[in-house]
Amino acid sequence: MHLARIPRRRYTHGPTPIEHLPRLSEHLAGPQIYIKRDDLLGLAAGGNKTRKLEFLVADALASGANTLVTTGAVQSNHCRLTLAAAVKEGLRCRLVLEERVAGSYSPDASGNNLLFHLLGVDDVTVVPAGTDLDAAMQQVADQITADGGKPYVVPGGGSNALGALGYVSCAEEMLAQTSDMGLPLDHIVCASGSGGTHAGLVAGLYGNQAGIPLTGISVRAERAAQETKLHTLANATSRLAGAEREVPADAITVRDEYVGPGYSLPTPEMSAAIQLFARTEGILLDPVYTGKTAAGLVDLVRTGELGSDGNVLFVHTGGSPALYAYQDVVLAEPDE
Ligand SMILES: *Cc1c(COP(=O)(O)O)cnc(C)c1O
Repeated sequence: MHLARIPRRRYTHGPTPIEHLPRLSEHLAGPQIYIKRDDLLGLAAGGNKTRKLEFLVADALASGANTLVTTGAVQSNHCRLTLAAAVKEGLRCRLVLEERVAGSYSPDASGNNLLFHLLGVDDVTVVPAGTDLDAAMQQVADQITADGGKPYVVPGGGSNALGALGYVSCAEEMLAQTSDMGLPLDHIVCASGSGGTHAGLVAGLYGNQAGIPLTGISVRAERAAQETKLHTLANATSRLAGAEREVPADAITVRDEYVGPGYSLPTPEMSAAIQLFARTEGILLDPVYTGKTAAGLVDLVRTGELGSDGNVLFVHTGGSPALYAYQDVVLAEPDE
């Protein structure tokens, strides 16, 4: 795999840190927990979509586009970061927001919604859950073309093979860092949503023969469907990165028992995990992705599935701006 062949913009200075979390590790009384601080990536307020956008926006610029079009949920971190990349590159940006939970869109909401407006979004189209989002984005793109512009459609979550290269690169970065640190990893845990993060990490770890098991915590889909989708995406990503071997299906592990009632809907374990990370390590998670992923991590440590010693790396994919749209949930008492 040799990513230097593929055009890329740079939105972060250097690697994001890997930090030890000694107080959290002591509290959980299992393996040592480390964190990959991808919440500190570049572009407004950081997070995992920044890595994908380095490749996607380079492709958009090469195509001569003047407007990015993308889609996400009403508090989408991906939409915030696509918009921030557009601003930085002197492009325009239009968003299609899917109201995945009925009634969840409010034009005055805080969190990422506030940032859409602060960053100067050109246009927001809100569509109901279950809308064909590719068709909805194409409609927006056609309008831009009709008005004399040149659109570039970034897929939801930035999760096509090109975007997922961002996490092939992250896997290589983590392998270089941990070998410099003399830190042997026994397990990696990440969020699994639109899938580009998880699939890119699988492609990068497998392609470099790292031999480190990776568990993706689903924030939305049921396990079997997510694993099938990831296998296809991991292989497309691998091929694009120039790997010679297929990624086997058993390199992909998804756990779906931490989703709760559904995407973006709170669970008590999510609130507890957000409070635990904040109060032991001063680290801000988010209610939709990393809070549920951390709830999964905590549970897998408590049940002994991650072993009793060794080193586990939690990939912090960002998202803290959404905290400000979930005030009650974030401070919920565990028994409420
Ligand atoms: C989008 C997102 C994820 C999920 O990443 P995918 O690549 O879509 O699976 C995780 N955490 C945060 C904060 C996100 O915004």
